[in-house]
Amino acid sequence: MCGICGVVGLRHATPIVFEGLRRLEYRGYDSAGIATLVDGRVERRRAAGKLDNLGRLLEDNPLAGTTGIGHTRWATHGAPTACNAHPHGTERVAIVHNGIIENFETLRRELEAVGQVFQTETDSETIALMVDFYLTQGYAPREAALNTLKRLEGAYAVAMIFAGHEGS
Ligand code: GLU
Repeated sequence: MCGICGVVGLRHATPIVFEGLRRLEYRGYDSAGIATLVDGRVERRRAAGKLDNLGRLLEDNPLAGTTGIGHTRWATHGAPTACNAHPHGTERVAIVHNGIIENFETLRRELEAVGQVFQTETDSETIALMVDFYLTQGYAPREAALNTLKRLEGAYAVAMIFAGHEGS
């Protein structure tokens, strides 16, 4: 396991989140990523390998916004690739997750049965796609998150951001 961090503020979030990830480097990791809200939209940058790789990506493709989350990953489910790097999500939500969702296979099958399409091999993406599913059913972000957390088995820490919901 490695680290997650997040910021809700008035200043540019990416440098603050990136510094948070730097401080978590000592725990070990294989990939890293950051998501922020840019004009209310979820945007992500992810890279395999060292934080410097993510840093270079961010130099080439800066990430604006004042609300953001970040992750350093130690893969438990799925190879340490950029695609499997967190944050995971959709246009409605992005999540970072440390830990293991032990019942993810059951949840994944349930979500696929209602039409959710997975992009990664991770257990963590089930969280994102379950929250997203509840959002599409009309639940507010807090309820969508709480409904999802009730279904998770395992040990985990999670942070989420929601499109159109800066500052929370
Ligand atoms: N189980 C998750 C994954 O493999 C999170 C691992 C972690 O804690 O970094 O992506």
